[in-house]
Amino acid sequence: MLVECCHRVWQTSQPYLFLLWSNFMNLRPNRLAVMVCAGLLGLAAPLAMSWGPEGHAIVADIAQAHLDPAAATEVASLLKLEGFDRLDQISSWADGNRKEFPGTGSWHYVDIPLKADNYDATRDCVQGNCIVAKLDENTHVLADKTATPQARLLALKWVVHLVGDIHQPLHAEDNDDKGGNTVQVQFFGKGTNLHSIWDGGIIRQALSLQPGPHYTFDHAAVQADAMTLDAAITPTQRAAWATENLLPQIVDASIVWADESHKLAQDVAYVDIDKPSGDAWSQRYQQKAWPVIQTRLEQGGVRLAEVLNEALSN
Ligand SMILES: [Zn+2]
Repeated sequence: MLVECCHRVWQTSQPYLFLLWSNFMNLRPNRLAVMVCAGLLGLAAPLAMSWGPEGHAIVADIAQAHLDPAAATEVASLLKLEGFDRLDQISSWADGNRKEFPGTGSWHYVDIPLKADNYDATRDCVQGNCIVAKLDENTHVLADKTATPQARLLALKWVVHLVGDIHQPLHAEDNDDKGGNTVQVQFFGKGTNLHSIWDGGIIRQALSLQPGPHYTFDHAAVQADAMTLDAAITPTQRAAWATENLLPQIVDASIVWADESHKLAQDVAYVDIDKPSGDAWSQRYQQKAWPVIQTRLEQGGVRLAEVLNEALSN
């Protein structure tokens, strides 16, 4: 039914919509058709599945500022393969290319039951289909100097994205609610869900950022915000967040990061959500959650720099 509807809407509105919008958006036709239909039928905002582009870019920008010379050179030469020159240009690639990589949806998270104490590989990462295992796999491809530059660039895209995602508390828990995606909330007057406000709503509210279509965002504004967050990190925090000899056992570190996220979901995200609506609740929840998210973005940036520095060192 939906596909048939999309085709009909697409057939009739194509000449106008395509010229108007796709020139502006540079989007592939079929994706534009789906977005137009979804918009018209009010089915927009499918399941939120990741830090929004701003969150991922902040993690990437903080990491970029702390790359060792050797790692910075390697990163630049890999990015150049596709005409990029900054990590924040590839930080949401894994979200924007889900269609091209079907079956990788579960790479973005690990469903640790909310009531469980911590990660259990047998229970939570069946056949290695979760963020903990995929971060390990892709980091090793990135570090493998014998792999092709294309394979290492693909691995770099995943590593930059997944180090971000593992620091989003609702990417390391499930309460039979798709990681909070089915928990409806009214956030500052907008109907949305718990996962989505942790992905982007709270960040945008705190930094006064407006989301762009299809993972686009104001790069200059986000880079400036990232440097403000980076400057707020104390040397003690940087040392505390670092991991001794991160490679080759990155899996150990990513389990620690996933458990940290899981604990924050228990202690912060799922607290005070009995009546999640209205301005008073939105203000209260924003004030509680933003400092937690800010720290997770900072930790993600510091640790991503460490992963890249170790994987790309001489
Ligand atoms: Zn993601």
